[in-house]
Amino acid sequence: MKCPRCKVVLVVGNRAGIWIDACGQCDGVWLGRGEVEKYFRLAQKELNEHEARLVRSERATWFRSLRGWLKG
Ligand SMILES: [Zn+2]
Repeated sequence: MKCPRCKVVLVVGNRAGIWIDACGQCDGVWLGRGEVEKYFRLAQKELNEHEARLVRSERATWFRSLRGWLKG
């Protein structure tokens, strides 16, 4: 899969059982349809402080990416 914005190949990573496609160029984070739900559920759960911070920051990045993508 390629970044819809940069057209570079995304790096696939797995955090807490959720598959995430990340773009090294724009720092965008892309999730599959089912993964989005899992991801938001996880963000609301009690994680350790470090993990929770990571999820929140990635969610913010993902929202930015989605906005940019929709704008074209
Ligand atoms: Zn990108």
